[in-house]
Amino acid sequence: MRGGSIAVVGGSIAGCAAALAAVRGGAERVTVLERADAELRDRGVGIALQADRYEELRAAGYVTPEMPWAPLTRRVWSARDGDAEYGRAVGEQPFPFRAYSWGSLWSELRRRVPEDVDYRSGAVVTTVEADADGASVVFGDGRRERFDLVIGADGYRSVVREAMFPGARPAYAGYVGWRGTSPDVTGLPSEGRDAHNIVFPGGHCMIYRIPDGKGAHVLNWVLYTSPPRIDGLHPDLRTPTSLPPGRLTSELTGHLRALVADHFPPFWAAKVLSTPAGTTFIQPIYDLEVPHYTSGRLALVGDAASVARPHIGGGSVKALQDATALEAAWQDGGSWKEILESYDTRRGPVGAAMVGLARRMGAAQVERTPDWSSMEQSRFDAWWRDQNQGSDGRSGFGGHSMKPADG
Ligand SMILES: Cc1cc2nc3c(=O)[nH]c(=O)nc-3n(C[C@H](O)[C@H](O)[C@H](O)COP(=O)(O)OP(=O)(O)OC[C@H]3O[C@@H](n4cnc5c(N)ncnc54)[C@H](O)[C@@H]3O)c2cc1C
Repeated sequence: MRGGSIAVVGGSIAGCAAALAAVRGGAERVTVLERADAELRDRGVGIALQADRYEELRAAGYVTPEMPWAPLTRRVWSARDGDAEYGRAVGEQPFPFRAYSWGSLWSELRRRVPEDVDYRSGAVVTTVEADADGASVVFGDGRRERFDLVIGADGYRSVVREAMFPGARPAYAGYVGWRGTSPDVTGLPSEGRDAHNIVFPGGHCMIYRIPDGKGAHVLNWVLYTSPPRIDGLHPDLRTPTSLPPGRLTSELTGHLRALVADHFPPFWAAKVLSTPAGTTFIQPIYDLEVPHYTSGRLALVGDAASVARPHIGGGSVKALQDATALEAAWQDGGSWKEILESYDTRRGPVGAAMVGLARRMGAAQVERTPDWSSMEQSRFDAWWRDQNQGSDGRSGFGGHSMKPADG
């Protein structure tokens, strides 16, 4: 099936990959509509891609070795142990991941979007209206434009999803991710090749080194825990949102800083507490599933389609895989109907499985944390197997394999 006009709403990781997929699939005209009017390069912090999933995506032509990355080989989970500098290791595990800065991953994907794709920054889509053989996007200024297919790559608050499944919104998981990047990478154990999870009652904090894009590294961290009972905060978080530095109340950051001071080993507490306030922000954690990835001439990719809690370390992998599956469906399909049905069949079950696994991990790692004080390697291994369901390494942690037999 060749030809056709395609709109991709959202020009982030999923959007750039979907535009590439549409061009490779044979679309005649591809337009990306991105709300942000400046380059997205500076957005976000660290993204870790599981090494085998990276290889599959590289073979499919969606990522390249040129993107700056830092290797991670092992993940060490540690709890505070009095004044011991790095705390006590409660368990460790292989962690074959590649650490990226979000900005460089996006820049490289953006560079791969062919020049004849019309990438429009500052294009705010307010609604999408489907008809029998196409769909129209309506812009903030009231203008409309019609396409043969509209792909929603517009993240967890997707307007394309709202047109497909009204009311299907992310559900607040009851806790947040407090994130930051610190320029201080001095003294990291194992020269920074390990990822670290600092554990405490009611949560954990994932810490790893990422490239800073200028040849050096910064320290990326994200701390997951339930926020305190501050008036009005919890209802606010139930509406899909994120809290940039300007919206963080002193009560909320004070609570998180006190938690770090009380529960982190001294080395890691110093790293987190010395992080410049301007680089810290809060992302409430959500779960989202949809009944289907397609409906009529509308399709979803990335976080617009499903949001899995980040403990699974696979959201970007899933977004990129969605695009490769769309490309494959396009190559095989003889009509829009065939392409879209095939894409839905390929990706719907994977999205649902990832949301389920990530929910179990969130329950084990944040909502119902074990007694870390008595945890050691063999109990840790059993705890990990239990939430990961199966010891064969095929649960989907880091993203499901695209090879069906490995699924
Ligand atoms: C705390 C945390 C840690 C994470 N860590 C990892 C990790 O280590 N590894 C990993 O693989 N994944 C991780 N993820 C997940 C990952 O960030 C996402 O799954 C991935 O980036 C896919 O994003 P996306 O492109 O679908 O959506 P987004 O990046 O949200 O992009 C949506 C785009 O659409 C645009 N847009 C939205 N609405 C409109 C509109 N109406 N009109 C026009 N444009 C619009 C937005 O401006 C934005 O650019 C993490 C997520 C969180 C919250």
